[in-house]
Amino acid sequence: MSVLHIEGLASNRKERLKVSICPECMSDNIDQRSSIALRVVCALILIVFVPLGIFIAWVPFVLPIIYQCNKCGVSKRKEEMETMDWRDKETFTDEYQMLEQRLLPYFNTWIEDQDNQVAKLIKAESLFLLLYVTNEQITLHRIKEIDEVELPLRLHTVHLTGNHLKVARNNYLTLTEFGKKLLTDEEAAMIHNEETKRGTKLRDWLRVEDRIAHIADLQSEKMA
Ligand SMILES: [Zn+2]
Repeated sequence: MSVLHIEGLASNRKERLKVSICPECMSDNIDQRSSIALRVVCALILIVFVPLGIFIAWVPFVLPIIYQCNKCGVSKRKEEMETMDWRDKETFTDEYQMLEQRLLPYFNTWIEDQDNQVAKLIKAESLFLLLYVTNEQITLHRIKEIDEVELPLRLHTVHLTGNHLKVARNNYLTLTEFGKKLLTDEEAAMIHNEETKRGTKLRDWLRVEDRIAHIADLQSEKMA
């Protein structure tokens, strides 16, 4: 019995040391959206108001638990969240600082990737970002890793899909307040036009102005 008791304590302790992390922006500022109380209320509504609802009152309890990230706004199922042991926080901070040092020369510069798409490399909201402008859309991607600091840069990225860090709205014609912070007025003016070939136009302008500083090879989930 005593052995089982100790094992129980150990596994509880293990669970407590784990924190959920947003897989897109790596924030631990996460809330559970669907609470047990809400599930109970839904079950009661089914029982009281739906004919034979008592037979389906279990349904709310098997629906997936959804977490929302308060930083980037993305919602994910519990099993899609990453977990981190808080004891690894120091390693995590070291890796962050190392990545920052390696990316430092490239902040606020434009890069062109192997598909001839242009992106601005920025640090904002404590994230290392690539702001991509294609003909169809403007998207934001977090840089997870850099394999190669010599040119071409070899970057690993993940697409940020949450609403809190949206760069543009209205079919990509209007920059958000956050989007305006990431671009100079001149760059924003190049993007903020009604042309359909926005990405090509921006790239051609950057090339003519000699503002594409680096070529990158992206090993990415950038359009995921
Ligand atoms: Zn997030």
